[in-house]
Amino acid sequence: MKAEQQFDYIIVGAGASGCVLANRLSAEPSNRVLLLEAGELDTRPEVHSMDGFVSLWGSDLDWKFFTEEQSALSGRKVLINQGKVLGGSTAINAMMYVKGNPLNFDTWNALGADGWSFKDVLPYFKKSEDFELGGSEYHGAGGPLSIRVCPDEVMRSQEFLNAAAELGYDGTDFDYNGSRQENGAAFLQFHINPDGSRASASTAFLNPILDRSNLTIKTGAEATRVIFNGKRAVGVEFVQDGETKVAGAEREVVLSAGAFVSPKLLLLSGVGPAKDLGALGIPLVADLPGVGKNLQDHMQLPVVFRTKDNRPQTRLLTGNALFVKTRPGMNAAPPDLQLNFTPSMPGPLAPVLNIPFPVCIFLPILVQPFSIGEVKLRSANPLDAPSINPNYLNSPADVDVFVQAVRLIRDMASTRAFSDVIDAEIAPGPSTNLDGYIRSQTSTLWHPAGTCKIGQDAHAVVDAELQVYGVEGLRVADASVMPTVTSGNTVAACFMIGEKAADMIL
Ligand SMILES: Cc1cc2nc3c(=O)[nH]c(=O)nc-3n(C[C@H](O)[C@H](O)[C@H](O)COP(=O)(O)OP(=O)(O)OC[C@H]3O[C@@H](n4cnc5c(N)ncnc54)[C@H](O)[C@@H]3O)c2cc1C
Repeated sequence: MKAEQQFDYIIVGAGASGCVLANRLSAEPSNRVLLLEAGELDTRPEVHSMDGFVSLWGSDLDWKFFTEEQSALSGRKVLINQGKVLGGSTAINAMMYVKGNPLNFDTWNALGADGWSFKDVLPYFKKSEDFELGGSEYHGAGGPLSIRVCPDEVMRSQEFLNAAAELGYDGTDFDYNGSRQENGAAFLQFHINPDGSRASASTAFLNPILDRSNLTIKTGAEATRVIFNGKRAVGVEFVQDGETKVAGAEREVVLSAGAFVSPKLLLLSGVGPAKDLGALGIPLVADLPGVGKNLQDHMQLPVVFRTKDNRPQTRLLTGNALFVKTRPGMNAAPPDLQLNFTPSMPGPLAPVLNIPFPVCIFLPILVQPFSIGEVKLRSANPLDAPSINPNYLNSPADVDVFVQAVRLIRDMASTRAFSDVIDAEIAPGPSTNLDGYIRSQTSTLWHPAGTCKIGQDAHAVVDAELQVYGVEGLRVADASVMPTVTSGNTVAACFMIGEKAADMIL
């Protein structure tokens, strides 16, 4: 099929990384850039309010992916929401902004991602950022993305900070996005605008440049495969309004469709494990055994206490955090536990949770999982959802992180700081079998990563410049390229990946 239109660059997916790329690549007026997005425009008001986004989960702005049956979760299939709209998951996410631990990036570097150590990536985090407290060694000012310290007053919990201090952690003026991430309690930072509206990838990186004549944005345009001429990517096939179309790329195609769809598109295009592609009748372009492998995701577990006081509901879901290591010997390892805290009922969840008494909620998050999974094609039909198997909690060490987390939470709940606040543990409850509670109540924190990892080993999919091995003119730039998932909510690293990818391309 002949390309209807020629571009220099085609970016597939207008999420965290894709919108940054569209902005930076089209800043050079001679670059003709096409941004393809399967979802629609982000016109729904719920996208833009601080507390409306939960109602979008399960809507037509959500891919609503399900995992395969998870054997360590008694066969549960877990729903993993992912944004299907301009802005991608940044249009429906909880907006927490966590760069990750410096050791995460130094680990990437040690695993073969040359030029991705913390020192190397910090300038790209700062380039995007407009931190409300100003620029510094660790924060950027004047970038497109507004970052604010927990703008929900009800959410800010001095008790949580004091309780952490009683247990020996830093509890005063701590910044987990600063020189040290672990062992300090702090109010979370958010990608939210000064007027309280969501700062999404689309509002921050696309809205200011919509008048660029060299940038074309097509929405409702679902990419179905990359077109190759021999080994060179020369375009993208996509479906829009029920019609199959082709756009040509004279320089490069960049896949930024997220950790589930970027590997899916590679596989549909003949780039992946030869045996699997052969079984589906997909012509092979490059035999890359690692495509879709190395899937890593964060998991969360609610730990709920009845409180003595009845505070107003919060607007955000959570807003206080502490990052810790759960095993004593983890000296040079990044933290494996993020502990979030919400001091009263989170307003957006109140209708769903329907709890008739006042509560506070601790949310431990497993941020360095040992359980690794994979994404595969279900069929050769590009419109089928991929088969997703994260192997959640298959490693007993991952269950143990939650066991340690519940211990830490109980210690915190027993501090002087919480003595006037906390009444009784409701869930899991002191007599509940903890292993059973963990396996039945954990769910995704929606942070899939790693399925097209940077590296130099046999399962690496892209090199340190994010170029797909074995072909030309094709990169991946999104959560898929992380060799290991970061210790904290992933969006900040995805913005950073977009910035660094654009810099390398230009
Ligand atoms: C409910 C939820 C809550 C979250 N909360 C937080 C949080 O508070 N803090 C945080 O740091 N992270 C959070 N995250 C995760 C964070 O949003 C993601 O890590 C980040 O957005 C991933 O960026 P990405 O560029 O890899 O993919 P996305 O941002 O998901 O973008 C991928 C884009 O590609 C599009 N696409 C997919 N397939 C195709 C196709 N075939 N053709 C064209 N376009 C396609 C998608 O529609 C989407 O727009 C949350 C995510 C979710 C879903």
